[in-house]
Amino acid sequence: MSKRKKISLTVIVVAVLTIGTSLTTIVKNSVKPERIAYELPKSSITNKNWKTIFQNTSAIDQFKVLNTGSVKVPLDGMLNTKKLEKDHNLSDEMWVDVFVFMFHHKEKGWFMINSGLDNTFQKDGNIKGLLAKNFIIESKQQEGQNIASQLKKENKDIEGIFFTHLHGDHTAGLPELDSSLPKYVGKGDEYLDIPLLYHSNHLTNESQIIEMDWSKGISKEPFKQVIDIFGDGSFLGIHTPGHSNGHLSYLLMTEAGPKLLTGDASHTKYGFENNIEPGWIDDQKVAENSLSQLINFHKMFPNIEVIYGHQK
Ligand SMILES: [Zn+2]
Repeated sequence: MSKRKKISLTVIVVAVLTIGTSLTTIVKNSVKPERIAYELPKSSITNKNWKTIFQNTSAIDQFKVLNTGSVKVPLDGMLNTKKLEKDHNLSDEMWVDVFVFMFHHKEKGWFMINSGLDNTFQKDGNIKGLLAKNFIIESKQQEGQNIASQLKKENKDIEGIFFTHLHGDHTAGLPELDSSLPKYVGKGDEYLDIPLLYHSNHLTNESQIIEMDWSKGISKEPFKQVIDIFGDGSFLGIHTPGHSNGHLSYLLMTEAGPKLLTGDASHTKYGFENNIEPGWIDDQKVAENSLSQLINFHKMFPNIEVIYGHQK
């Protein structure tokens, strides 16, 4: 690209971003389902150590991972590329999966974690705007792989959806799901919808979002804020901010053993194993700190299955 072209492109990008920033304020008010507070039950694990918590495997008897499609994303979004070794052989773009996790709690029923992709991802997907392709370059989805088709096959009554955070690739299944399902997210986590730049229809039909207040969580080494979502120690939300400010990782005590879902505190296995936080972050120091906590937890309990945000 010539120098001149490069300069004019920069001017356009800066202008678009400036307009975008002022539009953000307007949009935050226009697409804003009411946020209501989740009443955290009294926790049964406050004085228990991890080993005792892991032994409580009677409540969650089923856990499933649904793959709702793949997206091609830039490497520098998945990983802070400044921390990569010079001779790494990763390419600049990579394909990653978009999961929905399902679990069954014997008393509370079936729940989903994140909403996956709807069937528009067989083509261009449902995130539009000038900057959309900076995040999702391309998508791949087979017939029947979208979340609504897979749920139909599963034929289970879903009681609610928990989100790791509200970024577009985690909310993209909502337009084809029942809008009356309760939706839970970490307190303060933002949903981005900026006309012309990064626009989606994911929350258009939602009237309410239930916020779980991680600041009321308990400290359980190495984590600072852990919430006991059902109060029986079977399903824990761990505040792991950095990629987004209200981001939650989840820890489930299932009959098949504990499972740690990092969410986008680590999109990739590579990032987790090499201690490299995502490139897409709200706050790098905070993201580094969240990832270290998760890695330390895994070092303490290496037998726990870890499932990364976009890789199994
Ligand atoms: Zn994601």
